[in-house]
Amino acid sequence: MLATRLDREQLELAQTVHRSAASLLDLLNDILDFSKMNAGKLEFANSDFRLREVIEDVLDILSSRALEKGLDIGYTIHPAVPEWLSGDQGRLRQVIMNLVGNAIKFSGSAPWPNGGDVRVRVERVGYTETESTIAVSVTDQGVGLDESVRQLLFQPFTQADSSNARRFGGTGLGLAISRQLVEAMSGEIGVNSEPGKGARFWFRIQLGNPAGTHPPPPGLSSWEILILDTPCSAETIRGILGPKCVMVQSVDDPEIESRSWDVAFVHAQADLAELRKRLRGTPIVLVFNKNESIGESTEIAVTRPVRAGRLVEALARIQAVGAAPAPASPPRTGGLAGHVLIAEDNPVNQMLAVKLVTNLGLTADVVSDGNAALAAARIKNYDLILMDCQMPGLDGYECTRVLREKPATIGTPIVAMTANAMKGDRDRCLAAGMTDYISKPVSSERLRELLARYLPAAEPL
Ligand code: MN
Repeated sequence: MLATRLDREQLELAQTVHRSAASLLDLLNDILDFSKMNAGKLEFANSDFRLREVIEDVLDILSSRALEKGLDIGYTIHPAVPEWLSGDQGRLRQVIMNLVGNAIKFSGSAPWPNGGDVRVRVERVGYTETESTIAVSVTDQGVGLDESVRQLLFQPFTQADSSNARRFGGTGLGLAISRQLVEAMSGEIGVNSEPGKGARFWFRIQLGNPAGTHPPPPGLSSWEILILDTPCSAETIRGILGPKCVMVQSVDDPEIESRSWDVAFVHAQADLAELRKRLRGTPIVLVFNKNESIGESTEIAVTRPVRAGRLVEALARIQAVGAAPAPASPPRTGGLAGHVLIAEDNPVNQMLAVKLVTNLGLTADVVSDGNAALAAARIKNYDLILMDCQMPGLDGYECTRVLREKPATIGTPIVAMTANAMKGDRDRCLAAGMTDYISKPVSSERLRELLARYLPAAEPL
């Protein structure tokens, strides 16, 4: 509904329904988690992962909420923290998501970037041959907390105080869950705060040093890098690309002309004409917010909150083209091209999936179970299959196994759609031969991002 033509009142009502449904879902997931913990049913996975990616994912997911409140969000990881660690990255993500989500909830509300910062910092505070003790902190500049409130924080079903509960919503379960998760990973969690001075939530856990060997991050140590961006974003870029980066606050800073740079990261609001003059041909990478237009700019661009992978990609493109201006990255908001099969037994989910997929410019056929999906795939070639896991007759896992044995569909991307957020669920989908995974309820943004990995962009009209 939100993607259709609505008048202002209808739009506001539809947005309210959407937000309410989202917070109801959060609440249900929290209560489900909490009851699983109380029943001792929580299991922990163990695999090698990159902590950096966990944090970047969290910031990505929460970035639009932060933007709405005018907050700049970013992270730094101390160089002593190993790039790879081993443990339960899903649970770790959940804890970090809770803390960052809270920090956003209790701070901000001014036009961007005047809402302040939310920053995640990671350090290694101890290590043995097999384990590293990692300290993660999340700081905000929000309302802060006094002593009596801090006592209650990590108890279930008690929010800071009832006036806050009314102001900010939520059950107060997030922190109780986080505490249980952290303690189950033999760690501790806490908060430092004073009223009016923001809060610093922190936790410490032990994570295994990785089982396998992993390639080190690409070396960028020789680059001369200039950064003209918001303080939080600039610190994030510097944290990723190394301490040699020089940060400046304004286009007039004399430092800009002090030497020749290999690249300059510049926020999209800067006076680019003036800056180009002063930078004398230095390649520029624009840093902008997802809701910000960069118009006809010809520069390479990365979105905030910046991710290490995107920065390295941008630098690789600069290296490839020398100092010549590179074409702007195409806007990622366009449609996609392709014919999709949706296998889903629930009529409401069917309707939603068709709507989301056709809104992206794709065409779709719908079937209600695995056998019908096999039949459809015999008759037509699909560019991608969206596969519900639980279906009557032949379920999504079995159906995928059969499709993978047939030459026509051996390489077709199959994306699982499942309501299960349980441990091992993703693994189960991948083990059945599925290519990727999206959890229900499927949002248009996440679906778009996911499908864009497998389907080409639509030809411009
Ligand atoms: Mn189903």
